[in-house]
Amino acid sequence: MKIDGGCHCGYITYVAEIDPDEVRICHCTDCQILSGSPFRTSVPAARDAFSLRTGQPKIYVKTAESGTKRAQAFCPECGTPIYSAAVTDTQMFMIRVGTVRQRAELRPKIQQWCRSALDWVMDLHSVRQFAKQQTS
Ligand SMILES: [Zn+2]
Ligand SMILES: [Zn+2]
Repeated sequence: MKIDGGCHCGYITYVAEIDPDEVRICHCTDCQILSGSPFRTSVPAARDAFSLRTGQPKIYVKTAESGTKRAQAFCPECGTPIYSAAVTDTQMFMIRVGTVRQRAELRPKIQQWCRSALDWVMDLHSVRQFAKQQTS
């Protein structure tokens, strides 16, 4: 499936080809912190199936508990996370689904690192809902 997307401010844009069955949620603590959210949703694209159209992301290299280093790419202007990738010899880009224009079509099929998932994210049905911003 062809997708395209970019950051919030519009500096970074990209196009990619992905398999919608590969969309996954990650509940690991690194994803919680780096996304600023309870979990992160990503989809892989092979190296040759991803290309930046505009902008140059800033890279933060994080070191996992296991010692594995991964490049975290984000917009230097607005901070939107765009993808993660191996630091050298990149074979695959893990695209952040929130930046994909077609994200409504990308339903996750897998949840990983569930041992660190925040217990309330597994069931949001009981949380009060509003169609727009709740101000009072
Ligand atoms: Zn931006
Ligand atoms: Zn993670």
